[in-house]
This record gives sequence, structure tokens and C-alpha cells, in this order.
Amino acid sequence: MSEQRTELDNLGEFGLIDHLTKKFESIQKTTEFAIGDDAAVLNINDKESQLISTDMLIEGVHFNLMYMPLKHLGYKAVAVNVSDICAMNGVAEQITVSIAVSNRFPVEALEELYDGIHTACRFYNVDLIGGDTSSSLSGLTISITAIGRAIKEDIAYRSGAQEHDLLVVTGDLGAAYVGLQVLEREKEVYNANPAIQPDLDGHDYIIERQLKPEARVDVIKFLKELDVKPTSMIDISDGLASEVLHICKSSKVGCHVYDEKLPIDTKTSMTAIEFNLDPHTCAMNGGEDYELLFTVSQKDYDKIKGNPHMTVIGHITDEKDGRYYIDKNGSAIELTAQGWTHFND
Ligand code: ADP
Ligand code: MG
Repeated sequence: MSEQRTELDNLGEFGLIDHLTKKFESIQKTTEFAIGDDAAVLNINDKESQLISTDMLIEGVHFNLMYMPLKHLGYKAVAVNVSDICAMNGVAEQITVSIAVSNRFPVEALEELYDGIHTACRFYNVDLIGGDTSSSLSGLTISITAIGRAIKEDIAYRSGAQEHDLLVVTGDLGAAYVGLQVLEREKEVYNANPAIQPDLDGHDYIIERQLKPEARVDVIKFLKELDVKPTSMIDISDGLASEVLHICKSSKVGCHVYDEKLPIDTKTSMTAIEFNLDPHTCAMNGGEDYELLFTVSQKDYDKIKGNPHMTVIGHITDEKDGRYYIDKNGSAIELTAQGWTHFND
């Protein structure tokens, strides 16, 4: 190691991954696609490929056990990994689970965690096939690897978007972030005075979106039934803006995203306003919605038009036309990603 010291913040998460992995070239014939998408793609036979994705959740960074029940945490840890397999247009089949845990946790706490993992395995039809267990000096870390499968020609990479394609999102956006604001506020109130009961009334939907997100396995099924193959796809973990930029960068295209088209639930909007937050900013940059963002060719528009699970939020342009967010007044604002930068948390 040289004397030079570069702060992690200088690179950011994605810059760091690029920097550390740039000299790795795939050697194995079975490695169809390595780093740079929601899952790696491995060749298993002429027709199908295997999909592999890993995500790690760290106490104090990704979750706070003051308001995150361990059962929900277990469920969420599985769901976010299944979501990455969905983002390739595939189906998850197995998971491995690795935990590092301090002696602050009794066995009963880990039983709760595994209850959540078990419920998610049942719901998503996946088998727990292994993992690793270690002690930790402080806190809890969970790392899950999901293994899935897809028909080769169905796989949706981040890199397939083409000029004139439509940008589509599933469900609604921003709720998980606004739900987190409610949970954080009640945590502060509790810390100031533990006698006061948390006031979560009327916020069930957005809190559930934060504590119990679901992978959109249903959408993968609908797309097959509608005979629509997305030209590109990604799941929304870091925030819509960040994910749109990933698709644009990988596909070497530009885009227009329209403020007025963003699907935001009224409960999200109302609570955002209560917190002096702009609901559209929450939808663009909030993250953790685990919805899917994909592009489809215009010829498929009739197949998805009016579908209650899918909203067209913009379209793909030529790369040299830039990547823009069109606000309510019709002004074009350059898209920037302000998603989570965990190094700054
Ligand atoms: P996602 O948000 O979909 O989980 P990430 O942004 O975490 O994806 O990762 C982007 C890509 O970088 C993926 O292909 C992932 O496997 C890869 N990656 C992330 N961290 C590392 C690492 N430390 N070493 C090698 N590859 C990594
Ligand atoms: Mg992803």
C-alpha cells in the first residue's frame, strides 16, 4: 500500500466499486456478465442462465433496531435480494444467509430474525441453502446472496435502453423514505421521553413500505403474461434519479423524466408536506422503494397502457441530448443522483 491516502468520499460508492474492480477480467467461459448490473449472469445451459446477487444490511447504517423489528429485518433482507433477481427479469430460487452478531443479542432475537427470513422464503418460494455465522464486536450484519434463473433471451440488463423507449416505474415512489422520517421522528420523541408512546397513527402504509418492502415478483409475472420484454431494467434501491442515471450510463442514452408523471401515493405526499419535504424530491431521491424501473419499446405501449401497476414517467433520448428532469413549469433540470451515500451516514 502506498503512502497516499484517498478518502472514500472522493470516489463515492459506485466510483469505489469501479476503481477496485477495473482490473478484473472474467476468465471463465461460464461468466456471461460479471460486475455492473443487479445480478451477475452465469451460463448454465443453452436456454437459461443463473443469476446471482448479494446485498448486505448493517445495523446503524441500513437499519435501526429501535424501530425495526427483527422479524421484519429478516424479511426485508430477503426481499431486497429477491428484488435484484427480479430486476434482471428472473426468478429467485435459493438464498444463502450470513450473519455477524455481537453478544448483545440473545438466541431469541436471532430466532425472530430467522422467523422473518423463513416467512420471506415461503412467500418468495426460495430455499435457504447455506450461509455463515460469525461473532461481531458490535451490532448485527446480515449479508444475503440470492440465486435465480432466467431464460437467456428474457434477461433485462441495465444496458439495453434505446432512444424513444418509454421509461416505466412500478407501484408508487417515495413512501419508504417518508415512512423512515416518521420512524426517526418518533425515535427522537422516545429518546427525549420514554414515557411517551410513539404516534404512528395514520402512517401505516408508509411505515410498512419502509419496514416491509416487497420485491415485485408479481410484475415479472405480469410482464411475461403481457408478452413485454423490458429493453432494460433495474430495481429502485437508491432512489429513482440514481437508478435512471444507471440505466442511462449503462445504455449510453439520455432521458426526460416528467415531474407530473411520478406515481406518489396521497399518504406519502401528505406526510412529506408535514415534514416540509417536497413529495417529488422524496420520490426522486428517497430510495428503498424496491419498485422496478424499466424501459419498453414504444410498440409495447398498448400492452402496458392503463395497467394499475405501471406508470410511464418519461422516455429515452439520444445521449447527447442529456439527462433531464422536467419540472411542473416545463423547465428541464439536469438529473443528479442524491441517493444514499452510506460513506457519509
Ligand atoms: P444493487 O444496488 O443493484 O445491489 P450495487 O450498486 O450494490 O447493486 O452494485 C453494483 C455492481 O457492483 C453489482 O454488479 C455488484 O455485484 C458489484 N459490486 C458491489 N460491491 C462490490 C465489491 N465490493 N466487489 C465487487 N463487486 C461489487
Ligand atoms: Mg439493484
